[in-house]
Amino acid sequence: MPRYDFRCRTCGATFELRRPMAQANAPAVCPQGHPDTTKLLSTVAITSPGGTGAPQSSGGGGGCCGGGCCG
Ligand SMILES: [Zn+2]
Repeated sequence: MPRYDFRCRTCGATFELRRPMAQANAPAVCPQGHPDTTKLLSTVAITSPGGTGAPQSSGGGGGCCGGGCCG
């Protein structure tokens, strides 16, 4: 079952829901109970805006901040 990300416009919280694709656009309620939420694009569909897919090599170091795991 696909996973969908939602963001609450009231408190700004983001949360995930697993639901059938038929209900992908159905309203979701924030865990805090706020009904005003918006569906975010799936991270699976996001591609590089550059289009070429060339990796950015700006100096050494690197890190894990690309995936959002650093908050
Ligand atoms: Zn909320």
